[in-house]
This record gives sequence, structure tokens and C-alpha cells, in this order.
Amino acid sequence: MLRGALGGVAIARFGREAVVGAVRATLAGVRPAVLAGAEAPDAEAVADRAMAALERAEQPSLRPVFNLTGVVLHTNLGRAVLAEAAVAAACGAMRSAATLEFSLADGGRGERDDHVRALLCELTGAEDAIAVNNNAAALVLALAALGAGRETVVSRGELIEIGGAFRLPAIMASAGTRLREVGTTNRTHPRDYAEAIGPDTALLMKVHTSNFLVQGFTSEVAPAEVARIAHAAGLPMVDDLGSGTLVDLARFGLKRERTVQDAVRDGADIVTFSGDKLLGGPQAGFIIGRRDLVQRCAKHPLKRALRVDKIRLAALEATLKLYRNPATLAARLPTLRSLTRPLAETQQAATRLAPTLAAWAGCAAEPAPCESQIGSGALPLETLPSFAVRLAGTDALAARLRALPRPVIGRLHDGALWLDLRCLEDEAGFIANLNAAGTPA
Ligand SMILES: *Cc1c(COP(=O)(O)O)cnc(C)c1O
Repeated sequence: MLRGALGGVAIARFGREAVVGAVRATLAGVRPAVLAGAEAPDAEAVADRAMAALERAEQPSLRPVFNLTGVVLHTNLGRAVLAEAAVAAACGAMRSAATLEFSLADGGRGERDDHVRALLCELTGAEDAIAVNNNAAALVLALAALGAGRETVVSRGELIEIGGAFRLPAIMASAGTRLREVGTTNRTHPRDYAEAIGPDTALLMKVHTSNFLVQGFTSEVAPAEVARIAHAAGLPMVDDLGSGTLVDLARFGLKRERTVQDAVRDGADIVTFSGDKLLGGPQAGFIIGRRDLVQRCAKHPLKRALRVDKIRLAALEATLKLYRNPATLAARLPTLRSLTRPLAETQQAATRLAPTLAAWAGCAAEPAPCESQIGSGALPLETLPSFAVRLAGTDALAARLRALPRPVIGRLHDGALWLDLRCLEDEAGFIANLNAAGTPA
């Protein structure tokens, strides 16, 4: 069989060891049935199965998909889709040596944060800035550098769990700072912060309650007020914005979210935020603010463990540069482009694609209004009116869409499968992808 035509092709493509392994595994797979009396498959059938297994194993595990879930910044689907400028910059950095820590001015050593520091300062109004692996890392580093062995004061209403293992008390424990909770779940007052300050206090912290909202009888202390209380005691105030945005989203017709510039202006000494949430860049976290404090973070031994590589720094620099021209931002930054997609466009796309999808799926498919979410804890209760193709199918249809060459990920809701078209830009590619798999018999 290995000497057959298919065997030759397979060996050239996958190597002898892999092909022999696949044939043995295929034979081992059919042996029990044959021993139980089933008819043995012929050599050609075994070769076909082995080839199919080899092709499956060849597919990448991390694959591009169509995100039609209606969640724009979907953490499980990799959050922000990068701008073309960022993709090009990352590819350039990958393909060759780069000035990661090298100064072209004098030929001496440079610093990797130099590539984004000036841009971040220009865009946010901060004195200094560094980038690390993600915002969780930014928090751990800031707390370790500024609060280790001492107390960090936080409102009980802000002790959040974001998802997975990200729980604020656990993050603080791993950074070696002692959590000093103040106020209650629903109400925290200025005096709660002031009364908690003692000889062991290292800093006061505000945390964006990214994925929930406390309603009813509530009060929280504004960041500017927390900063004022901290400064009166000679302490720094850290503001974890979570998503963070560098532009006033109201300018793009979205709900206004406090910006990073607002946090700096409100007196935070350190502000932390993510690179791949509303900012629309690669996974990263930023620590910006007062120079002496940012430098303490930069010089902490953990910084080395949490630093970003040349690929992401290149993508970050290119992404941040797009913010210099807010007028073209919504066209060039995919995250913002998706968030601001006009309802009429998604409706037209749904009307165009519904018949194609109905024919492909063999079931009813209709344009239907739906609500998209921003995702990643940005503006948690805010939804955006959008249009989907609603397919009269559930789990089996969802599985067929996931089995396409480029898997299509929708959302099961109300006994139907919804494909929210907000994030679909390549409609021709989407249709070609459906046809590549052929229609079922
Ligand atoms: C998302 C979030 C984080 C974690 O950010 P990552 O970039 O995912 O590590 C931290 N704090 C808040 C408030 C967040 O919303």
C-alpha cells in the first residue's frame, strides 16, 4: 500500500514515519470490527482513511474563523482583529532582525518600551508608559512594584472576577500586597477610604467593574475623589480601567466610556488598561502615569517575565499611530469599524445572504434583527442593534458550520442559530467558504 501512488504522494508530503504511523493506527482502528466478523476494508480504503487522518493532523489547531457570534471583542475568539497596518508591521518584525533594544541614533543599546512610550504619552497625557503581556500582568506588576508587603485599599464593590482565574483578591495576593477592603458591596463613601489609611497603606486603587452594574441604592467614590484622598495622605492612586479607550466613543455614535485621558486628568498616578479590548490592538497591557512610579514598575524583576516581544510591539506601535488621526480611525481599526457598522449595512448583508444560507443549510433562513455586544467587559450592558441570518437549526447545523474549511461560529438562541453579520466583512470569502464544502446530498 505504501508503494501505491497514494503512498508515494503521502510520503512526499508527510514523511515516511508519519505515513507508516497513520496506516498502523488505521489498521488498529478497524481490527476489532474485523475480528468480530466484519468484512475487512481493502488496501485502497485503508489508504484513504490513513490519508484523511494525516490531513486532519496537518490542519493548524489555532485557526481563523468567521466570528458571527455578535460579540465583537470575543475573548475566546481572540478579541480584537488587528488593523492592516498592525498586521504588516508584525510581519515585518517577524521576517527580519529588528531594532527591539537597539538605538539607531548611536548604535548603542535601546529599550523595548521606547517604541510605544512616546506615542502612549502623547495620546494619554501621561508622563511615562510601559507595555507588558496583558492587563492582568500590568496589574500584578504595578501592585508588586508599588504595594508588596503593604496594604492596597479597594472598595468592596470593585472586587471583581473577570473570568477564568482573574479575581482581583487573587491577583493582589500573588503580587504580595494585602487587600484592605473598604465600604460595602453597594455603597462606598470617601470617609471609608480616608479611615482605612494607616502606616501600612501603600496605595489606593479603583477598579473598573467591567462586566456588571450595581443598581439601586448605590454610591461609589469618583476616581478624582479617591486620587485626592490618596494624595492628601501622600499615597499613589492606581486606576485599573480594564478595557480602556483612547477616544471618546460618543464621537462614533457609541455610549461614552471614560477614556484613559480622563483617568490621567482625574489624578490617577498609575492607569492600567488592555491592548486588545476597545483599543483594538494585539494582546498587551499598559502601565502609564507618573514617571517615578512607572519606572519602579519598569525596574521590577517581574517586568522581565511579563515583557512583550518584537512582534506585538510592532503591531502595538502601528495600532497606536492610527489614533493620531481620529477622522480615519473608524475606517482603519477593525474593532471600531465593527462597532460602528451601520444597521442598514448589516440588514442588507442579511437580506443578501439569507437565500444562500437557506440553500446551503437546507432549512429556513431569514434576516432578523438582533443585538450585538461589545464584549471583553467593555460597556457591559450596552448592546448595538444589528441584523442576523436566523437559521431554523440548532446543534447539528452549528456543528456543520464549525466543520467548514474556515469555521463559522454563530450563536444558539431561542431554538435557532443566529449568524450576526456585524463582524462579517469578507462576504465573497464567506460564500466561497460555504461552497468549498459543497451542499449535502
Ligand atoms: C479585562 C480586564 C482586566 C484583564 O485584562 P487582560 O488584558 O485580559 O489581562 C483587568 N481589569 C479589568 C477591570 C478588566 O476589565
